[in-house]
Amino acid sequence: MVDVTGNTRITGLFGCPVHHSQSPAMHNAAFRHLGLDFIYVPFNVQSDDLGVAVSAIRAFSMVGVNLTIPHKEQVVSLLDWVDDDALKIGSVNTIVNDEGMLRGYSTDGYGFIEDLISSGKSPESAKVVVLGAGGSARAIIFTLARRGAAEIAVVNRTYSRALELTIALNGVLGEEKIKPVALDSDEAKQSISAADLLVNCTSVGMYPDTDAQPIPSDWLHDGLFVYDQIYNPAETDLLREAKKTGARTANGIGMLVHQGARSFELWTGQKPPVEIMKNAVLKGFNVTNR
Ligand code: NAP
Repeated sequence: MVDVTGNTRITGLFGCPVHHSQSPAMHNAAFRHLGLDFIYVPFNVQSDDLGVAVSAIRAFSMVGVNLTIPHKEQVVSLLDWVDDDALKIGSVNTIVNDEGMLRGYSTDGYGFIEDLISSGKSPESAKVVVLGAGGSARAIIFTLARRGAAEIAVVNRTYSRALELTIALNGVLGEEKIKPVALDSDEAKQSISAADLLVNCTSVGMYPDTDAQPIPSDWLHDGLFVYDQIYNPAETDLLREAKKTGARTANGIGMLVHQGARSFELWTGQKPPVEIMKNAVLKGFNVTNR
């Protein structure tokens, strides 16, 4: 437990729900490890209360907060300043209280790229297929494009959503390397057969008893690096099937840790103890590392 004093600096998480989040364990372990008088508290905040909750950051002199579902997009218009990349992505997952000025950042794309590279896959010149066109896909696609991916096919169940994301991101990036593809199409299969990086940004795989995997197993091949953003379960059906073909794989635990590590750095100005944070997350899930 963290000893709370009159000087303790408060950080936390605004989301709904927040009860299953590993972020409190991850950040509080890092604060303890570095001997910082900080605490991280999860707050269950309904969408209608987000404005009040954001005002409370100032009122309570909080250091800052993380945002999770469903607040990352809605919060952008409530801040005093938003980082340029976060504005282009249209999502903020970290607020820093800079002497009453609330600054917004997006660390999701950073977390993904850090973990991808440390898992041994460079985004440079990669031919990418991203499954999904939701909030996390947006941050990941933007960051992959910025970090030198050659082409990115956005394969989504709802084609119109992939199209809308493609138009928006190609527009802010000023290039045409992103294209929309319908999930139930020959083009989806062809895009994956030509790709060297496949990233699952759908929620398919979180509930192994009810959903299986986002694409048929026979679309996978040994030339792929398959990254599944899902971290619980640690090995989704998609990753298991990919490994069978000889493809290299990674799950989303490292992304979770690295996006948190970047938030930690923004709040404390200190180098985050990444391994301590990762161990706290793994302990929380009671799973072994990938
Ligand atoms: P989101 O905005 O709700 O988007 C969900 C996406 O999944 C949509 O593209 C949706 O397609 C697709 N999808 C849902 N059910 C599907 C199905 N049965 N078949 C095919 N496609 C389906 O969610 P998100 O915030 O991007 O998060 C997606 C996943 O990433 C979640 O599992 C989340 O926990 C995980 N995540 C991990 C990290 C990390 O740090 N590792 C960070 C963020 C998110 P439609 O457009 O057709 O509905």
